[in-house]
Amino acid sequence: MPISHRSTARTVKKPILSIVVPVYNEEENVRMLFEKIQAVCEPIGETYEVLFVDDGSHDGTFAVLSELSKQKPKLRVIRFQKNAGQTAAMAAGFEFAQGQRIISMDGDLQNDPADIPKLLEKLDEGYDLVCGWRKERQDKFLTRRVPSIVANWIIGKVTGVPIHDNGCSLKAYRASVIKQVPLYGEMHRFIPAMSTVVGARITEIVVTHHPRRFGKSKYGLGRVWRVMLDIIAFKFIISVFASRPNPQKPSLRQRLSNVLFRPKQKAFRVAAFLSLPFFVLGRVLLGSANIAALSCFSLAVALLILAWITENTIQHAKRESSTLDTLERFFIIQCRRRPIRFFGPIGVALFGLGAIFLLTPINSLLPEILNVRYSNPSTIFITSGILVFCSGLFGELITFANAKRVKDYTIETFLNF
Ligand code: UDP
Ligand code: MG
Repeated sequence: MPISHRSTARTVKKPILSIVVPVYNEEENVRMLFEKIQAVCEPIGETYEVLFVDDGSHDGTFAVLSELSKQKPKLRVIRFQKNAGQTAAMAAGFEFAQGQRIISMDGDLQNDPADIPKLLEKLDEGYDLVCGWRKERQDKFLTRRVPSIVANWIIGKVTGVPIHDNGCSLKAYRASVIKQVPLYGEMHRFIPAMSTVVGARITEIVVTHHPRRFGKSKYGLGRVWRVMLDIIAFKFIISVFASRPNPQKPSLRQRLSNVLFRPKQKAFRVAAFLSLPFFVLGRVLLGSANIAALSCFSLAVALLILAWITENTIQHAKRESSTLDTLERFFIIQCRRRPIRFFGPIGVALFGLGAIFLLTPINSLLPEILNVRYSNPSTIFITSGILVFCSGLFGELITFANAKRVKDYTIETFLNF
C-alpha cells in the first residue's frame, strides 16, 4: 500500500469534520451526493472535508469525481487500483480523514446527509460512536430485510452489543477512537462490536433510508453466508483481544513468530500426512462408524489447508510487514494460535482416552460402567475427540482467512491531498 503521497498534505487548516464515502460504480450518484453533503455541511459552519474512496470502479465514477474535485477543494478523492471491498475503502477513508469527527455513509444516496447534524449532536453528548438505524429500511423484504434482522439479532447475542442495525453505513465517530479500531475482511458490519475493544461508548439513532434510484446493489444473497462466517471469526478475534498481553513488546512477538511458527508449519504438514492413514485406521478400527472415519479424513484435509494458509499468511505478513502496524501484526500472529489452543488439547485428550479404553480390557466393561448399550463408548470418545479437534482447526481456518484480508488495498491516486 504506497502511502508516500501522504507527505504532500495540503497546508490548509485541518478540517474539523470528515465525511467518508466508499464508492464502487456509482457514477450517477456521486455528484448529487456531494452537493447534498455540501448543502448540509455549509450551514453547520465548521470546516469540513468530503473524502470519497473510489474502490476501483469500472464506470465513470472516478471521472466524475476528478472533474468535480477541480472546482471543489473540499472534495478529496482516493482511488484504489482495484476493487478491494467496502471495508477496505472505509479503512482507507478513516486512515486519511483529517477531522476529529468522522461520518461514514454509502455513496448511493440511500443514506441521507440531512441526518448528519443529528448524528453530530449525539456524538457531542459524549459518545464515541453513533450508529444509524434504518428503522424504515427501503430494501426488498425477503432477500434483504429478513436476513438483516436475523443477522443483527445473532450479532447482538454473540457480541453483546445490541445495536439494531450493524449494517447501516451512516455512522458518526470520534476520530481518535475509530482510528484505533482494526478492520478486517468485511468487518465494517462489526464496527460497533469491534469498537468495544478500545472501550468506545456507543449509541444509535433512527435515520432516514431511501430506495436505490441509480446503479445496482453490490451484494447478493452470498452476503448472508459471509456474514455468518464473519460472526464466527469475530468471536475468535474478540477472544484474542480479550487476552491481549502488553502490546509494548514487539521484539518478543517477533521472536515468538520465528521460534513457534516455522517449525509449526512443518509440524502441520507432517501431521497432515500422518493423519491420512488415520482414515484407513479409522475404517479398520471402527468399522461401520463412518462418522469417525470421515472425521479422520476431514482432519487430514483441514490440516493440509491449514498448513497452506499458514504459509500464505506468513508470506503475506513478511511481504507487507512494513505496512502492517503493531496491532495487525499481533493479530495475525495471535489468531494463528487461538482456537487450537482451546479445542486442540480437549480433542487430543478425548481421542487419547478413547484409544486407551479401546486397547485395554476396560473396553469390554465400559458399556456396563457407563450404562450404554448400543454403542461402544471408546468409539464415541475417539469420534468426538476428532470432531472437537477439527472444529478448532475450522475456527483457525476462518480466522486466518479473515486475517489474511487485512487492509488488502493499493492506492493508485490521491486528489486534492
Ligand atoms: N461499495 C464499495 N465497494 C464494494 C461494494 C460496495 O465501495 O466492493 C460501496 C457502494 O458503492 C456503496 C456502499 O459501499 O456506496 C454500499 O453498497 P451497496 O449500496 O451496494 O450495499 P447495500 O445498500 O445494497 O447493502
Ligand atoms: Mg445501498
